[in-house]
Amino acid sequence: MTNLQSSPYDQDLDKTPANYMALSPISFLKRAASVYPDHTSIIHGDQQFTWLETYTRARRLASALVSLGIQRGDTVSLILPNTPPFIEASFGVLATGGVLNSINTRLDADMLAFILDHGDAKVLIVDTQFSTVIKDALSKCKAKPILIAVDDPMSPGGERLGELEYEGFIASGDPEFPWNLPADEWDAATLSYTSGTTGNPKGVVAHHRGLYLLAMGAAFASQMQQHPNYLWTLPMFHGNGWCYPYTLAMLGGTNICLRSVDPIAIYQAIHDHTVTHFCAAPTVLNMIMNTEEKDRRAFAHQVRVMTGGAAPPAAVMKRFESLGFDLVHVYGLTEVLGAETYCAWKSEWDALPEQEQMKKKIRQGVGYVTVEDTIVADPDTCEPVPRDGETMGEVLKRGHSVMRGYFKNPKATHEAFAGGWFHTGDLAVWHRDGYIEIRDRAKDIIISGGENIPTIEVEDLVYSHPAVMEAAVVAKPDDHWGEVPCAFVTLKTGQQASEQNIIDYCRDRMAHFKCPKRVVFVDLPKTATGKIQKFRLRELAKEL
Ligand code: ADP
Repeated sequence: MTNLQSSPYDQDLDKTPANYMALSPISFLKRAASVYPDHTSIIHGDQQFTWLETYTRARRLASALVSLGIQRGDTVSLILPNTPPFIEASFGVLATGGVLNSINTRLDADMLAFILDHGDAKVLIVDTQFSTVIKDALSKCKAKPILIAVDDPMSPGGERLGELEYEGFIASGDPEFPWNLPADEWDAATLSYTSGTTGNPKGVVAHHRGLYLLAMGAAFASQMQQHPNYLWTLPMFHGNGWCYPYTLAMLGGTNICLRSVDPIAIYQAIHDHTVTHFCAAPTVLNMIMNTEEKDRRAFAHQVRVMTGGAAPPAAVMKRFESLGFDLVHVYGLTEVLGAETYCAWKSEWDALPEQEQMKKKIRQGVGYVTVEDTIVADPDTCEPVPRDGETMGEVLKRGHSVMRGYFKNPKATHEAFAGGWFHTGDLAVWHRDGYIEIRDRAKDIIISGGENIPTIEVEDLVYSHPAVMEAAVVAKPDDHWGEVPCAFVTLKTGQQASEQNIIDYCRDRMAHFKCPKRVVFVDLPKTATGKIQKFRLRELAKEL
């Protein structure tokens, strides 16, 4: 509640540039260049930069963009893998007052065309690897962005689109470009499109203030100190790279780039660059665990991994930690600018038996220190559900890192903020200690004979079967029950299990109505961020 009572101190409340400045994550880069000028900012194959060089390159980029006509509120789109220009643009575009629109590199031409039009892209910075699909997209959209081609030394290569080449382009910019803060910290900073599994994607607008604060929250949640060595396994385009580009500048850390997720390269980087932190969806944890012994590298230092993006099953977390990694479970959405909830670990839990520890760790937990309120509530009344670990409600959020809204979509924005809370669309229970535990996405939950079956609970059990590597459970239409659970499973290499065997395993351990009625063995379809595409599995289940 805001206290609006007048106070004798009000008369002294002058906001001047001496005591009040906009919060913007671009401040972190200016400071990094001054405090850690010679510390390595980015490693990308044979390329290395220092923080002073990254600042200078970002200033040149900003200056060159302004020469092209970019000004406050103009969209600059990127289709880039995790490479140095992405980090430079994360700061340089914002320093012009422009809005950074980083686009998922795996989208097809139609979706790209939609985003370029809807986002009103003025400039498009592209890696030559994606030239073919971009050419196709540009032939389908009305937007005519100015193209800047990045010829990355590690790119598999492709046609160079447009007149401008990135290195030449930034060389034309002023290295002394004034690094001005936005007039208002609430100004749009980034535009990120959701995956649009149920229609056209929505453009999430983040403000400078939210990115600044979340970058700080992320540092604390991932227990980073000065100079972390951060490996880019998470796509930078995914929810602003969960704000880590900004966190790394804040702490004078080193960004270690990876163009694509490859477990052998991950082990190599951990060894070569003493990686201290990386983020990984549960499917990436699985990939790492399945790396053959000969391709793994031993490491003696602490490597902390922030896992999220989908619910990490207990069995996966347990196996992964046994490889010597330290896990932090995080949760978030594009609409809250990345991960901003985590299972804050308490030292008294260290004494619990392993199984009890995992029960704590599968919980998504509590908001970051920079997030105001996270509750589980009735979505219609916004009244909190009891903290009993049983009653399900929707996760609602409010605070500093909630988006401004959906770009050019007031209806969706209004719905998302109904009752003064941001509605996440995720269903959870609330535990006595205030930690939330997500049970399902509202649109994924199975309703069988009038009973709710949270798919995460069923998946967690299927994952614990010794032969199972990955599993996803979705609703299959059923004449009698309405819907029944259907499991899609990938087995571990060299392991065998039959459909009946997995069904029996579940029936021995869980209420029968929740157990899968069918088990199908497949390679699970995934998004670029490693999320299993349940909508596609639902289509398959319908056809069974
Ligand atoms: P998209 O909607 O395109 O998948 P997001 O990255 O915004 O993109 O997805 C956010 C969703 O991912 C959340 O609403 C939630 O359903 C799921 N999610 C993210 N992290 C977790 C987690 N730790 N546990 C369970 N679900 C998660």
